[in-house]
Amino acid sequence: MNRLLNAKYFQVAQRIWGTRLLFVNIYMIANRPGSAKGWVLIDTGLKGSSAKIIAMAEALFGPGTKPSAIILTHAHGDHAGGLPELLKHWNVPVYAHRLEIPYLTGLSSYPPPDPFVGGGLMSLASVFFPVKPLNIRHRIRAIDVEEGIPELPDWKVIETPGHSPGHISLYLPVSSVLLAGDAVATTKAESAISVFNYTGKLCGPPKYFTMNWEAAAASVRKIAAVNPRTIAPGHGLVMRGRELQDALQELAENFEEVAMPSSGRYLNNPAMTNETGVTYVPPFVSSAEFKVAVSFAAAFAGFMIMRQLR
Ligand SMILES: [Zn+2]
Ligand SMILES: [Zn+2]
Repeated sequence: MNRLLNAKYFQVAQRIWGTRLLFVNIYMIANRPGSAKGWVLIDTGLKGSSAKIIAMAEALFGPGTKPSAIILTHAHGDHAGGLPELLKHWNVPVYAHRLEIPYLTGLSSYPPPDPFVGGGLMSLASVFFPVKPLNIRHRIRAIDVEEGIPELPDWKVIETPGHSPGHISLYLPVSSVLLAGDAVATTKAESAISVFNYTGKLCGPPKYFTMNWEAAAASVRKIAAVNPRTIAPGHGLVMRGRELQDALQELAENFEEVAMPSSGRYLNNPAMTNETGVTYVPPFVSSAEFKVAVSFAAAFAGFMIMRQLR
C-alpha cells in the first residue's frame, strides 16, 4: 500500500482515509491485513466525483483496484451522486439502510429541502440540489443493522435517522472511530463560507435537508452515548479527543437550543416515510413577499455555487 499519500487525502486512523470533494467527504476503509474482504468505499460525493474517487483508490490500493462494496450513510445527492458513474466502473454491491432504498430505486423522491432554515447561502441554494431518486435497483442491498455489513466485519452499524429516514453511522469499537455521515457536521453546513473554508466546530446535521428534528436530536444523543474518540463527518474536518468529547456532550445536552432551527417546515411537523418512500410532507408555509425574495436569493446562491463548481 502506498504510504506516500497525496496531500489531497487525509488519514482518519489506521486503515481509514478520507478526502473532501468540493464540500463533502468520502472515506475509504481497508479491512485488517489478511482479510479477504479488501476495502470499502463510504459515500460517493456529488455527481461528477467518480474520476477523483477512482484516482484516490488507485493511489491507496494500486492500479485497477476496486472496493468489495460501497456503503452509503444516506442517499442525499451529495453522498450518492457519484454512484451511477462509479457503478459503470466497479461492479460491486451498494449497501444502504432499508429506509433509504426507495430513493435509490426510483420509488420516491426525498422530502423537499427547507431553504428557510439556517439562514445561509447553502440553505437557499439547496433548492437546486437534486432530490430525484437514483435508480440502481440491481446493485442495492439492505443493511442488516444487527448483523452488520459482511464486507466490513469489524464495524458496527448505528442507526442515526432524522437528517434522512434511514441515515446510518459506522463505528469501529477497537479504535473508537465514528463515521458520522450527516448525523453531525463539524462545519456550519448552511453557510457557503464555512463549507468551503471549514471552520471546525461540532454542529447538528445540515439543516436544509433534515426532515425529522426529534429523531435527529435522539441520534446525536445516541452518538454522544457511544462517546467516540474520533468523528469523521460528511461535512467538515475530522474531530478528536477531548475537544470532540466536550463538544459532543454539549451538543447532545443543548441540541434543541443550538442545533435546531428556530422555525422551519419540518420543525414541529416531520415528514413521514416508510419502506416505499415519503408518505407525508408538511405544507409549505411562508408569506408571498418572502417567497419572492427567497427565489431571487436562491437564484443568486445557485449561480455562486455553480461558479464554485467550475
Ligand atoms: Zn444529507
Ligand atoms: Zn451531506
